[in-house]
Amino acid sequence: MTTLTNCPFCSSQNVVRVLASKDYFLTSTEFNIDRCNSCGITFTNPIPSDSETPTYYQSDNYLSHGGKNSSLFYNAYKLARVFSLQWKTKIVSEAIGEKGSIMDYGCGTGDFLLTCKGKGYRIFGVEPSTKAREDATAKLGQVVASNLRSITERNFDMITVWHVLEHLPDLATTIETLKTYLSPKGTLLIAVPNHKSYDAKHYGQYWAAYDLPRHLWHFDQTTMSNVLEKAGLQVKKIIPLKLDSYYVSILSSKYTPGNKVINFLKAIKNGLLSNRSAKKTTEYSSLIYIAKPR
Ligand SMILES: [Zn+2]
Repeated sequence: MTTLTNCPFCSSQNVVRVLASKDYFLTSTEFNIDRCNSCGITFTNPIPSDSETPTYYQSDNYLSHGGKNSSLFYNAYKLARVFSLQWKTKIVSEAIGEKGSIMDYGCGTGDFLLTCKGKGYRIFGVEPSTKAREDATAKLGQVVASNLRSITERNFDMITVWHVLEHLPDLATTIETLKTYLSPKGTLLIAVPNHKSYDAKHYGQYWAAYDLPRHLWHFDQTTMSNVLEKAGLQVKKIIPLKLDSYYVSILSSKYTPGNKVINFLKAIKNGLLSNRSAKKTTEYSSLIYIAKPR
């Protein structure tokens, strides 16, 4: 485990503790959330070393990578995902039109790319997890790269990073590198949880989208804009992911002490309250940032 004494984004030593929490999903290991007073970014501390990181991903239920699970919750999640895939491709067509090239960075098992392929886009996937990559390769009928260096294509019309950036230690380098793959008029789409949302504040240390220590960074609108600016990108639009307030609240309710059924019902209400509150504050549970090179 590595304890960070300086901000991992701007190297400032002006760092304060915000929250003590733990890995509620898998290992129960305790972690903290710290904030840099210089650049404002919020991050997990300590962080697992490279050799420890796989320990925190070893679960068949890690939904992002498509585990097998027959629970009602998982089936509802799958159904919601079908609708959200269609909605996501609508965002693509609004950004780049009806044709073009898309790279999905951290494509998981390839469902988003499959939907894009069905709409006629040229698709490229990058996925480091071997199992997810093999699934994606089979599903898409084309090779999915294990890392960015294997992608020889450049000038992408769109690069998408769906709930992936918060997992990556090399934040600045990743964005700068992705930008070199983007056409000068291309669009970078980044979706991440928003720790300024109503559900984040309501659930506090139990908020599932902290997902410690798998999430190393905890973004808000200001810090994400700063991160993108630093790489020469400008945020053009911010779009809410409204289903995430329910999904994250339900997961958070599983970590919250108390009666499971009551917690579940409260979670549905909190999902609703989060979206309602965000109508005024714009602080939705998760946000999609649409950015372009300057
Ligand atoms: Zn900083």
